[in-house]
Amino acid sequence: MMLIEHDAKILLAERGLPVPGGSLHRAGEALPDMADAVVKAQVPVGGRGKAGGVRLARDQIALDRAVTDILGMTIKGHDVRAVRIEALVDFVHEAYLSFTLDAGAGAVIVMMSPHGGVEVEDEGTRADLASETVALDPDAMRSAVGRLVARMPENLRAPLAEAGAALIPAFFEHEALLLEINPLFIRADGSWAIGDTKLAIDENALVRRPRLVTLIEAQADLYREAALKLAQGFDYVELDPKGDIGLITTGAGLSMQLIDELVARGRSPFNFCDIRTGQFRGDPARLIQVMQWIAAGPNIRSVLINFFAGHAHLGEIARLLLLALDAVPELKAPITARFIGNGLDEARTIIAEAGDPIAIETDLEHAIDLAIARAETEHA
Ligand code: GDP
Ligand code: MN
Repeated sequence: MMLIEHDAKILLAERGLPVPGGSLHRAGEALPDMADAVVKAQVPVGGRGKAGGVRLARDQIALDRAVTDILGMTIKGHDVRAVRIEALVDFVHEAYLSFTLDAGAGAVIVMMSPHGGVEVEDEGTRADLASETVALDPDAMRSAVGRLVARMPENLRAPLAEAGAALIPAFFEHEALLLEINPLFIRADGSWAIGDTKLAIDENALVRRPRLVTLIEAQADLYREAALKLAQGFDYVELDPKGDIGLITTGAGLSMQLIDELVARGRSPFNFCDIRTGQFRGDPARLIQVMQWIAAGPNIRSVLINFFAGHAHLGEIARLLLLALDAVPELKAPITARFIGNGLDEARTIIAEAGDPIAIETDLEHAIDLAIARAETEHA
């Protein structure tokens, strides 16, 4: 997963790397009294500058306006929920430096260019992008940086060498998949600063990285999927904002299979969800959360539940589902559930006594057929 720029910069600043001072702001929060600032959308994608999500503000009025405008934007599918307001850097060069892990090969690609910024991919400057692939090892990476620096213009060599040496330990400390500095600002006096950074980390390494977990949990609204997995032990991904079938399912493999079958039948599932029924512990909170997210989908016409109760009991699950439905009246689409496992008869009785708000099936194909049929007819 890619960290938002603000968090990546916090981590790099903690290592003593030269990050321009900045702070994070959400809608409605007081703004710093500041001239000469840059306002940057905090979404985990590149190309924000070209999308209008990076603006320079020379005075307070321009700052207020830039914050308001950028907080209203959606960039590459991500709603901008926060901006970083940062002190403007006075630079003479924008360079480029990155370290990319090639996990399969146990190698790192080191890339350097005297031309950074938003034009790094352009034809004219791409020829200047130098790279080397070396072993995943600090010494090998330092040597590669040395050789690449020698190919750069004379006046950029010292700051790029310094930056390379300082960034390699950070790459290892965070078990990075990617650490990119673009632009890497170089000032007239030869000092350097981190203009923008992409720090991608391995989600599977989070168990060993409590500092990263703290950052993610502190900004749960900016890292919805990762925060959810950490907090509640389940996976949820929105697949298609226009999808018409919401899924509440258990087991990652079973969920993927269900999605494949729906897609094969020409449907577009709204979400992927692996909600672990074994961890409900008598609390409908997770079900409520997922139902709220599904209810927020603009085109939801049918909800398909697929629960395999192994250690759990379907009677208990049926009771929790009814509690959750009561708590989320905005979820109006018809609900079809495929139940399999212990307590099926009790679940049927409980749902029937509640007036059958959920259609129960035990065969997966039948459940899919019914959910699709209901998407096409009942909720038009
Ligand atoms: P990206 O488009 O998402 O990669 O966003 P960046 O953070 O890389 O910003 C895009 C461009 O905005 C940079 O290449 C700079 O030209 C400009 N920019 C960003 N920060 C500053 C700054 O502090 N001073 C100046 N003068 N320009 C900046
Ligand atoms: Mn950038």
